[in-house]
Amino acid sequence: MSNKRDPRYDILFEPVKIGPVTAPNRFFQVPHCNGLGNWAPRAVAEMRGAKAEGGWGVVCTEIAEIHHSTELHPFPSLPLWDDSDIAQLALMPEAVHGHGSLAGIELGHFGIAAGNRWGRTPVLGPSTVPTLESAEPFHAKAMDKTDIREFRRWHRNAAVRAKKAGFDIIYVYCSHALSLIGQFLYTSINSRTDEYGGSLENRARLLREVLEDTKEAVGDSCAVALRFAVHDMTFDGGPRFDGEGREVVEMLSDLPDLWDVNVSDWSNDSATSRFSKEGFQEPFVSFVKQITDKPVVTVGRFTSPDTMVSQIKRGITDFIGAARPSIADPWLPRKIDEGRADDIRECIGCNVCVSGEWSYSPMRCTQNPTVLEEWRRGWHPERIAAKKSDDQLLIVGGGPAGLECALAAARRGYDVTLAEATTELGGRVTLESALPGLSEWARVRDYRVFQLQQMPNVEIYLESGLNAEQVREFGFDRVAIATGAHWRRDGVGRHHSAPIEGSGRDTVFAPDDVMRGARLTGPVLVYDSESAYLGSLMVERLCEEGHEVTLVSPTAQIAGWTQLTMEQPRITARMYAMCHEVLTDHEIVSLAPGDVTLRHLWSGTRRTMPIGAVVLVTSRLPNDSLYHDLVSNSDSLADAGIKSVDRIGDCLAPHLIAAAVYSGHRYAQEMDEDVPETPFSRKDTVWSSFAVGG
Ligand code: ADP
Ligand code: SF4
Repeated sequence: MSNKRDPRYDILFEPVKIGPVTAPNRFFQVPHCNGLGNWAPRAVAEMRGAKAEGGWGVVCTEIAEIHHSTELHPFPSLPLWDDSDIAQLALMPEAVHGHGSLAGIELGHFGIAAGNRWGRTPVLGPSTVPTLESAEPFHAKAMDKTDIREFRRWHRNAAVRAKKAGFDIIYVYCSHALSLIGQFLYTSINSRTDEYGGSLENRARLLREVLEDTKEAVGDSCAVALRFAVHDMTFDGGPRFDGEGREVVEMLSDLPDLWDVNVSDWSNDSATSRFSKEGFQEPFVSFVKQITDKPVVTVGRFTSPDTMVSQIKRGITDFIGAARPSIADPWLPRKIDEGRADDIRECIGCNVCVSGEWSYSPMRCTQNPTVLEEWRRGWHPERIAAKKSDDQLLIVGGGPAGLECALAAARRGYDVTLAEATTELGGRVTLESALPGLSEWARVRDYRVFQLQQMPNVEIYLESGLNAEQVREFGFDRVAIATGAHWRRDGVGRHHSAPIEGSGRDTVFAPDDVMRGARLTGPVLVYDSESAYLGSLMVERLCEEGHEVTLVSPTAQIAGWTQLTMEQPRITARMYAMCHEVLTDHEIVSLAPGDVTLRHLWSGTRRTMPIGAVVLVTSRLPNDSLYHDLVSNSDSLADAGIKSVDRIGDCLAPHLIAAAVYSGHRYAQEMDEDVPETPFSRKDTVWSSFAVGG
């Protein structure tokens, strides 16, 4: 470690004044949710604190609801409804201040995007329109003047509470079409005829008033930031960077102390690497700095310090805004500061983090297995407990589980040997990152391989497929089996519980075959009953190879799981653009030489299509024969001096890459440790037990 910052990056470490406060550097963790809301406040505070420790000069909360008339139940959310919420909100600034960083809070009211199922108050909006939040037939109440007055009072009170909780930067939220104030701007939502409707000046009146209210209430000691989507790519009638978005910035130019600007909706703001590359927002947001004298923060999945410097030097932004890069590597700024930018664990842009919020679960990260485990399991993103014994560890398989296990165990000080059957490390990451658009996923492998190469206590053997006898001969103390999983070729999965008739033919392929370069002939049918990301990638790969491809799914929606990564609409559009035909709600009845018979699930109509090859994307099975060979003979294990044999990653249970990384990390964390029955703390969380009875 050189411990010396490259002078080219000095500019990133300059302090920047934001109204009455000063950020210690230009690294700015913009507001982002985390799938916990207020369910485990200490876990969230420690996650944010870890980022401050890692050098993020500003660290912000997710949206904090200003009042009970805006709630997202059952989605995780963060209430700041009244004074009783202050104490738990205060944990976060306390954690962040401990490392010399500023704490920001994003005050928000979701307007027509709220569900209000818990409090049962009417959803509020500029006009009576169907609510955005669900398919239920809810409508918003058109706010009258009293509602608007009340709304301003709630917002002002929330700002005062936020200041009491210790926040330095208080946001007014006007982005993602998820903000009541922002919804007033949309001509498609706001059809008012009073002074809050009609002209842009009128539609922006509430935004101006709330900014003025907030400055008046807390602006003496807190900076007032505006998060504003200058360009909406999803909804009609909203701001455009070359239209009303720009006009709003001109109208309010120096009113906020900070402009945090982005694009809308959230799926565009947090676009995945499959669809958008680093710096993708620049064409939409770069005009803002030319208009305002106040500091500007922008995002764009920045992980390269050179790109960051270029953003500052070219006058695009004053702060390097980041949500996902700060999740994947909470210590990103510190690594640049210490002259070890090569150690950055770069975000891969997969949006598994985002899937937490949408699936009501604590955020997970493909690159960072410790996220949100800092408090409940005591896992630090960079530090790990020293080894408890001199046990030697053999890891069989060099996919994401094996690589992370090797890295975490080696960091603890264990001697680690990793044996990989093929000529390459990375397992499924290597295969999947070669698919169209997924090249950044290779970072999961590359980060770990680079780190492992520098560790003296790690030995890696390629082309070393091991069997049980060899494992026993080596006689390591502990063996972790990370041999992964394989795709089924018989069609069994969520839809078919028994093999599809004719699936044994040599014209039937699994995704593994396609990823390993199998040559298919003729028109191809891709059958996707898994409904995650891989089916559509098979289509893209086969289209690239020049095949005519038909996509068939038994689900009503293509790639349904990717709703959680916010890619589903884009994938659907791409499939319709690329495929010869897309057939949803269809199952395969049988596969015959040269054709496939399908059945429409609801009408029962059958059709037989001529097809050269079929790719079945249905489900996976663990490669666990080595494990079973070993554990079936416990005497010979004991004779070989092997204390434990465990499966990790996909070999244990096929799942996301994020789960394989997590599984490998967990194994290394728990080696030689006494792990309690419930291996994480539930204290002060919604999962705590409470006293019942009189
Ligand atoms: P995971 O996601 O759980 O890490 P992967 O399928 O990505 O699983 O990786 C598993 C890795 O294990 C692959 O690189 C594969 O080549 C390797 N592997 C499978 N069986 C053996 C074996 N018997 N010996 C060594 N390596 C193996
Ligand atoms: Fe980045 Fe994926 Fe981690 Fe999210 S889950 S921070 S997108 S690597």
